Amino acid sequence: MSPTPSSIVTTLPASGIRRMMAKAAAMEDVARLDVGEPQFATPAHIVEAASLAAAQGATKYAPSSGLLTTRDAIAAFITADTGTEVTRDNVIVTLGAVGALISAVRAAVEPGDEVLVPDPGWPNYLSLTRVSGGVPVRYALDAAHGFAPTRAQLEAAVTSRTKAVLINTPGNPTGAVFSRATMEDVLAFARDHDLYVISDEPYGKIVYESPFTSAWGLGEDERVIVATSVSKTYAMTGWRLGWALAEPSVATLIGKLQEAYISCSPTLSQKAVEAALTGDQSCIATFREAYSGNMDAAIEELHKGGIACTRSAGSFYLWVDVGCEDSWAFADGLLEERHVALAPGEAFGEQGRGHVRISLASPEDQVRRGARELASFCREQGLIA
Ligand code: PLP
Repeated sequence: MSPTPSSIVTTLPASGIRRMMAKAAAMEDVARLDVGEPQFATPAHIVEAASLAAAQGATKYAPSSGLLTTRDAIAAFITADTGTEVTRDNVIVTLGAVGALISAVRAAVEPGDEVLVPDPGWPNYLSLTRVSGGVPVRYALDAAHGFAPTRAQLEAAVTSRTKAVLINTPGNPTGAVFSRATMEDVLAFARDHDLYVISDEPYGKIVYESPFTSAWGLGEDERVIVATSVSKTYAMTGWRLGWALAEPSVATLIGKLQEAYISCSPTLSQKAVEAALTGDQSCIATFREAYSGNMDAAIEELHKGGIACTRSAGSFYLWVDVGCEDSWAFADGLLEERHVALAPGEAFGEQGRGHVRISLASPEDQVRRGARELASFCREQGLIA
């Protein structure tokens, strides 16, 4: 006899994006449009501040909820950025936005409670909900509504077991940025069903046309938990630092979970985040302009090749309807035959059928080549005339 491992873990789905990453990494000369990894190095002043902090001894455990100096820096940053007063009691430092999401779901659900997650949506919402004891139930997002959730789509998914609704703006993979009216509708829906709103906002600083509206500060803060991070904003994915923003009573629970899960987030990364939030902010616009330029380049190549595609309002992704039967087979074929890696639409849910996601976070030459090859591959496959 041998012990039986947890069925939650043995049946946990793997991310389709990571499958493409692994396959692409084993090949040569691939245009890497698969992964949401900024092409940029972390700005030098942040790295220098972290290395100075290391030399000065920031190499020990931190409090579970985060260094007070880091929580204060985050609170001051949000207060200045949004005009809504936030204090350290609202902020818990986590291992990236993903750490805030896992903690938020775990803090919200009893085992078996349902969490509404978007389709298409970031695949990890399924796994992180399940490891947190929840049951993910998908609500559809569609092009007809600009990939913003409607009341009808949410009502179609809610049951008496629903405990939380997870939303993501700016959206991965769709690039949608929800209007204030959409956010207010989601909050009204959550109020009517007495749900938590877990709002995943790591791309909040990467918006092009529309203003970004956070779920925080719209009058329902007792039910809102925002997850965000420095990963995408400051090209700091590997520092693994983010935070949860919540009412102090909920924030305390999320802090308790950090103790159980990780003891604390890395002290050195917290010092780096303090430097990021208090230092020169010009990198945000520099990165955003590069992504925007890449988006223009990709759309130009797609249009030249006969594929219709409109600009994303935010994030650094393009969600392209290529009309393929099986997006997994399509993405595998494109990688093997054309050396272009992108994410198959179905990795993000059933609503992703016929779609692919292009990441614009790579250098422009790769984005251009990838988009050109994508259009040519679609033609070869008979998907465009
Ligand atoms: N949420 C979304 C929608 C993402 O795309 C990602 C990363 O790709 C994350 C959360 C996690 O980001 P972090 O690196 O902050 O954990």
